Amino acid sequence: MSQSSAAPTSPIVEVPSIPAREIAPWALFFGLLGLLVLFFISADQGAVSIPSGNAIHEWVHDSRHLLGYPCH
Ligand SMILES: [Zn+2]
Repeated sequence: MSQSSAAPTSPIVEVPSIPAREIAPWALFFGLLGLLVLFFISADQGAVSIPSGNAIHEWVHDSRHLLGYPCH
């Protein structure tokens, strides 16, 4: 067993670089998904609901108030 006085080397971590063209479709997808979620939280009142009724409005009611959207 050899003994060395050198400090242990830290592992080399390589951060992968992802080209913007590969990220663009995912950014668009999650951007649209975010807009859909924002629509349900901010504007869904039952009149333009995708499923009719007030169910989604009730589910996101607290977050609507938390984000300061006018409600009731
Ligand atoms: Zn409310």
